[in-house]
Amino acid sequence: MNYQSFLIKYSEIGLKGKNRYKFEDALVSNIRNSLKEWGDTFRVYKEQERIYIDSNKDFNDIYDRVIVRLQKVFGISSISPIKKIKFTNDYKNLSVEVIKFIKEVYGTENHFTFKVKTRRVNKDFPMHSDDVSAELGHDILEECSNLKVDVHNPDVRIFVEIRNHVNIYSERIIGPGGLPVGTSGKGMLLLSGGIDSPVAGYMIAKRGVVIEAIYFHAPPYTSDRAKQKVIDLAKIVSNYAGHIKLHIINFTDIQLAIYEKCPHDELTIIMRRYMMRIAEKIANMDDCLSLITGESIGQVASQTVESLRTTNEVCSLPVFRPLIGFDKEEIINISKKIETFETSILPYEDCCTIFVAKHPVTKPNLTRIYKSEEKLKDCIDELVIKAIDEREEIVC
Ligand code: ATP
Ligand code: MG
Repeated sequence: MNYQSFLIKYSEIGLKGKNRYKFEDALVSNIRNSLKEWGDTFRVYKEQERIYIDSNKDFNDIYDRVIVRLQKVFGISSISPIKKIKFTNDYKNLSVEVIKFIKEVYGTENHFTFKVKTRRVNKDFPMHSDDVSAELGHDILEECSNLKVDVHNPDVRIFVEIRNHVNIYSERIIGPGGLPVGTSGKGMLLLSGGIDSPVAGYMIAKRGVVIEAIYFHAPPYTSDRAKQKVIDLAKIVSNYAGHIKLHIINFTDIQLAIYEKCPHDELTIIMRRYMMRIAEKIANMDDCLSLITGESIGQVASQTVESLRTTNEVCSLPVFRPLIGFDKEEIINISKKIETFETSILPYEDCCTIFVAKHPVTKPNLTRIYKSEEKLKDCIDELVIKAIDEREEIVC
């Protein structure tokens, strides 16, 4: 079958009442962006609570790649390749087209059971939906001796939607769900080279949030390859989230100051507090409404509930931690699914692993942390300003 159109369905955005059009427009625009590499081959538009993608030519040769792209556009609940025909109020014409569709898609040899489901939106068509389904079922059986009806558990469901034109389709390819990116504001993702933070970014983008990212590196203690790995991860996440502005902060002097002046068992916690402070400052400059991290309760010393409380305390923006209740195994499964895993496990050091103490505190005491941070007071503000001013920005 040479399809020329897709029908895109969306679920949750259907629920948004008066704001609905904003969600639909964002989804249309994100679909257009996702298909950019094929130039003007596709036209994406909405019509009567449906989104269509029409092609100006057969797209058999790129079909699989188009599906892979669309399965990364949040907000899509299903993708159906459809046959579109002109509306007429003539039942016979419809029946001929439906039978042609079945023969083209499934051939005339395969044996399977089917059911027809009709939805008549255009009331100029003279028959009720259920009557159309019954009549079509009857005509199909007469024409296709290889088929049988099963209304409860059919192998194939034939959908017929009678609108300003008629959609005929039988496939429903599952989309990624979620909300269109751009409908829930912007968030600042603390992106390291590990497994967790790219997954966290993916999950929050899935709820419609535009992602900006910030990476703290510590040259020469961390290599250019470690930095490149983070850029690569941001690029993979951008396949779902759209372009990501990545801020790269040189954290070396801050880390060295902490290393020199603060108790070593508190290094990680104090470092994490400065990461959060800097991330929040840049988030505020760029109108991000939240911070996002890949933390999960108890995963490492800096992620005990006590530690999380201590790092959380330095910022006033909400901190989204979508992995908070996940086991590592569950996180790994998502990272494999979204194709960040292979990059995340490349062995380059991230800046935390170099300055870690042998026995980091697992229950940091805030009063002690304040005292330790006091020791930084004659240099830290300047270092923070410098790190922010000299940051590098890359659009991934
Ligand atoms: P990940 O796999 O995301 O690196 P992790 O298990 O290594 O996580 P930590 O090193 O404790 O955990 O970091 C916790 C969170 O802090 C990360 O998920 C990330 O959001 C943020 N983070 C840690 N290191 C950095 C860094 N160098 N730059 C930016 N964010 C970081
Ligand atoms: Mg890490």
